[in-house]
Amino acid sequence: MTRLHIDWTACDGRGLCAELLPELLAEDDWGFPIARDGSPSPAVPGPLEPAAQRAVDRCPALALRLLRDTR
Ligand code: SF4
Repeated sequence: MTRLHIDWTACDGRGLCAELLPELLAEDDWGFPIARDGSPSPAVPGPLEPAAQRAVDRCPALALRLLRDTR
């Protein structure tokens, strides 16, 4: 399973990732991403992996990472 890890210490809350990945992320009142499933590292369904990778690549603060659980 792939998860999207958000580094809250690095995120500067411009909300780009929520725009690129609305299926997984919403924006709070300050522009910080919140996972729709309430998880700190939301699971990324296979069909959303390309969009999640784009969000990782475009995060201006390098605050996003995809974690792949190989078990
Ligand atoms: S794109 Fe990066 S810096 Fe911007 S809100 Fe998302 S995680 Fe934070």
